[in-house]
Amino acid sequence: MTAIPLALGRRSPAASAPPADGALVDTHGRVHRDLRISLTDRCSLRCSYCMPEQGNQWLARTSILSVAEITAVARVAASIGISTFRLTGGEPLLRPDIVEVVAALAALRGPDGPVEVAMTTNGIALPGLLEELLAAGLRRLNISIDTLRRDRFAALTRRDRLAEVRRGIAAAARSGLRPLKLNAVAMRGINDDELADLVEFAVAHGAEMRFIEQMPLDAGHTWDRAAMVTREEILTALAARWSLTPLPGRHGAPAERWLLDDGPAAVGVIAAVTAPFCGDCDRLRLTADGQLRNCLFSTGEFDLLPALRSGAPADAAIEATLRRCVWAKLPGHAINDPAFLQPARGMNAIGG
Ligand code: SAM
Ligand code: SF4
Repeated sequence: MTAIPLALGRRSPAASAPPADGALVDTHGRVHRDLRISLTDRCSLRCSYCMPEQGNQWLARTSILSVAEITAVARVAASIGISTFRLTGGEPLLRPDIVEVVAALAALRGPDGPVEVAMTTNGIALPGLLEELLAAGLRRLNISIDTLRRDRFAALTRRDRLAEVRRGIAAAARSGLRPLKLNAVAMRGINDDELADLVEFAVAHGAEMRFIEQMPLDAGHTWDRAAMVTREEILTALAARWSLTPLPGRHGAPAERWLLDDGPAAVGVIAAVTAPFCGDCDRLRLTADGQLRNCLFSTGEFDLLPALRSGAPADAAIEATLRRCVWAKLPGHAINDPAFLQPARGMNAIGG
């Protein structure tokens, strides 16, 4: 990982212009290859670290991008080096046109060949859709499951739907789609006594468990640095059951990985707060309402709706907006900076 001091090096990208051609590079030399596309801010769950129980300010339906608009952005992004598209939300499987979206993106090619389409989902709607999604070209799947206990799941997500999530995971396991990853946010007093059980559950499904440090992205703005479960605590809990051997070759991925005993099973930890990977970040984000973001924690956005909806040919304007967005990227997210400001959008409206 390349360490970049978070509070330092905040040079003003506005002082210079992005290159007009070539790869999507920022002022710190990071080449961008991964676009996370949020398809909706709606969700079938209400995870407390992501959404409020009630009173969410939904995005205006008229602003939600159509399949054609998403594809227009993705086509231009692929042509300048974006090679992975991860569909997320909100819950991406709530989009009635989800299979169409996957098919349209999977058909894209970049300078280095076909792109890869991935998805992060709560898994609830997977059993009925997985076959079609795979046929449409979906290649990677992350399914979120924070606890194996029904009462805890119902309290955490405010919905009694753990059995459906388990059915979604079972369907993915049967499908043979690999690598298959399961995500859990580690939370004190909520699931921190279940970490090893979650790993065993993942291994039993031919999947890899990834624990995510909780980030300040909840709509209720209740995140507490002192209360979050850290990477070190996660590793200590797992080391009580397995010997952990670090795996090399992270290649800019957010997760650090360890072999469990002698493998082949492994576990990942995404330590966005205590060991930020900003120095290697190659991601940008498109929200369901057409805003480009260069970081989960950005407080500014780049509006693609004028380019997409003016009626004029859009490719040049989309490319210019992508380049400006990447060029404006700060060296790091600064969560640990006392001056850190949580973005106004909750995680469900940004896209995790
Ligand atoms: N609904 C889908 C799901 O839950 O997988 C996709 C969207 S969700 C926002 C994507 C990922 O972000 C999930 O794995 C979720 O656990 C994670 N997430 C949401 N809020 C988070 C937070 N405050 N800190 C860390 N991870 C978070
Ligand atoms: Fe929905 Fe995913 Fe947010 Fe949970 S984390 S409320 S499943 S968008």
